[in-house]
Amino acid sequence: MQNNHQKEHLYKILVIGDLGVGKTSIIKRYVHHNFSPNYRATIGVDFALKVLNWDQETVRLQLWDIAAYQINFTVRNFYGQVHRQTRTPKTPPPILPLSVSTSYLPQSQERFGNMTRVYYREAMGAFIVFDVTRPASFEAVTKWKEDLDSKLTLANGKHVATVLLANKCDQGRDVLTNNGIKMEQFCQENGFVGWYETSAKENINIDEAANCLVKHIIASE
Ligand code: GDP
Ligand code: MG
Repeated sequence: MQNNHQKEHLYKILVIGDLGVGKTSIIKRYVHHNFSPNYRATIGVDFALKVLNWDQETVRLQLWDIAAYQINFTVRNFYGQVHRQTRTPKTPPPILPLSVSTSYLPQSQERFGNMTRVYYREAMGAFIVFDVTRPASFEAVTKWKEDLDSKLTLANGKHVATVLLANKCDQGRDVLTNNGIKMEQFCQENGFVGWYETSAKENINIDEAANCLVKHIIASE
């Protein structure tokens, strides 16, 4: 029976990382319990709500999924001069003033883009996701973390709890083994509270990763 005095928590959680690493898929798996192999880039920002029972309390996770990339491209004007520009999509209009774009440059350049402070504001936790089959997406992890930490600090002056997700682990673990990366050490050095090999496709470790994040958020409150 629902207790009216039950304590409730609402946490804004960011899901960030390079394009195509599986951010949207992880959220879909976690919240809607399904997976689709068809790729469709997120435009703007999406929200999903996950409700958890946590020690007789209710935890609502508001997951912020973003098309987290920005494309700088060059154009030539009427006089033949070259200009750098940053594109934002025209349709549908983003909810927030984000810089996102789709198809102006090859996939390899749709990489790390700085998020606006508005997007990070009031978040209590974050997942940073990379794709275990794409080394570049792992290299971008530290940039995402730096961007996040530089723009967001909690009231107590600390950084938000962040969990690192090595996604698509159903496809092997090349990135993790090839470079001899010691993940525990990497997490310590870069301020992650934990890391998980996940698969949105096979539903591996997503609940565990989320529980880890919630545990750290609650402990820091
Ligand atoms: P996003 O751009 O980070 O939101 O990435 P998406 O969630 O759109 O996923 C990009 C592509 O990777 C899609 O084709 C997904 O079906 C696929 N994908 C996502 N997660 C997994 C996974 O865990 N395993 C496999 N094999 N494919 C995945
Ligand atoms: Mg997406």
